[in-house]
Amino acid sequence: MLSDPAAAAWVAAGRPAVDAPAPVDGRCGRCGDDGPTVTSARIISEKFTGFDAWPFGSRRLCVPCAWAYSRQPTTQPSMLITATTVTEYSAGAELGDVLRAGPLSTTQAVVLPTARRRHILPTAEWGHLATDGLLVPWDTGAATRLTDLAWLRTTVGATWPQLSRSTPPSRLLGGQPGDHWPRILAAWSALQPWRTVPPLWASARVLTNPLPPGP
Ligand SMILES: [Zn+2]
Repeated sequence: MLSDPAAAAWVAAGRPAVDAPAPVDGRCGRCGDDGPTVTSARIISEKFTGFDAWPFGSRRLCVPCAWAYSRQPTTQPSMLITATTVTEYSAGAELGDVLRAGPLSTTQAVVLPTARRRHILPTAEWGHLATDGLLVPWDTGAATRLTDLAWLRTTVGATWPQLSRSTPPSRLLGGQPGDHWPRILAAWSALQPWRTVPPLWASARVLTNPLPPGP
């Protein structure tokens, strides 16, 4: 059985221990695994409001889930997780290539922090982009939208404030060759469902930002 992305990342990280008293047998409140668990109070701040999203009731966590929560949201890097590897990125834009290339497979998951206020890794699912409070199935349509968005920002030169409007400014269109117009108009309106979902729109921006200079 393929475990969830957080557990796969824990294995890929070398099965690190968590800062908590020795685990005792129980059921994980988040993933439902029966086995060694620690009390969530040692891992998660009392202000954590996500308990309602734990389907298994208990406030105990298995070690992989506890590890997934142990990194503070402010320090969570962007990640590409596969069944056997985890790759961390200091800039979310470095995941742009992967997400433009096509759908995420059932053995790939992406974690993309933008607001850095919530735990994202524990919410990751195979084939999905996980960002602040949102899971997006990453299919061919999503990859195409992201590709077109990158094209609008780089080749067409649309600014983010312009892109946030529901139609392209006539001044922008007027500066483009006529044979670009159909693609600009189609891409612009295809982005409308993303504009209306703030965490998704924020992710789209991060993923199409210029890459940071190399080392
Ligand atoms: Zn668990």
